[in-house]
Amino acid sequence: MEKNSNSPNYKVLNLIPDIFKNKINFIISTRNSSNLSFNTGDNRESVEYNRKIFYQNAGCNGNNVYLPEQIHGDNIVEIKENDLYLIPGTDALVTKEKKTVLSIMTADCLPILIYDPINEAFGIIHSGWKGTLLFLVTKTLDRMTKAFNTKAKDCHAVMGPAICSDCYEINDDLANKTKEAFKGKEIGIKRKNNKIYFDLVGINSLLLREAGLEKENIHKTGLCTSCLPGQFYSHRRDLGKTGRMMSLAWM
Ligand SMILES: [Zn+2]
Repeated sequence: MEKNSNSPNYKVLNLIPDIFKNKINFIISTRNSSNLSFNTGDNRESVEYNRKIFYQNAGCNGNNVYLPEQIHGDNIVEIKENDLYLIPGTDALVTKEKKTVLSIMTADCLPILIYDPINEAFGIIHSGWKGTLLFLVTKTLDRMTKAFNTKAKDCHAVMGPAICSDCYEINDDLANKTKEAFKGKEIGIKRKNNKIYFDLVGINSLLLREAGLEKENIHKTGLCTSCLPGQFYSHRRDLGKTGRMMSLAWM
């Protein structure tokens, strides 16, 4: 039987649309690659081993992987020929360098790839509730415009697996802060049975549309980390005690 890339037995998921298969890669690990973060209590050696196997399965150069610290902020770093592989105080990376692998760790937050096929550049973004309210996706696109002359209308965005709007319950305080950030509109807020939910994928898509991306160039995987316990770690579902998936992007 042919292996379906969405099967729970698969160790890596390739998220890139077919038209860009030979241009750029965007790959995320699944639970079958085990935990890939050093910050969740697992011993360092096993995480290093898990990462090594994941890089092999993904088919990338494991010696050239750049990882942002991820502090839920809005700092963006351009990777050139940098020898520092862990970039402090940042949640988004952009580059024009070939074979340079940019990565993001998630377990509910949304990993986003922005690809500019005209100038051959890309960015990878860690967008949770905070990053979304800080317009990190818009700021990353601005940064690509300044650094690479990127035009939003040429860009494609790919949204990886993240917690869906049926699972991401928020309280009144967060709902109010969300409305404030989006100028009093009920954008991305869903109410159901006296509960309030946050639409991470919906808001980030909207921000990308407002920035100038074409609707058909925004590719959503539609996979929820919380709804699919066999495939993904979920910080909320697992009440904070869980591993992390790693997304990798390179040209
Ligand atoms: Zn869900």
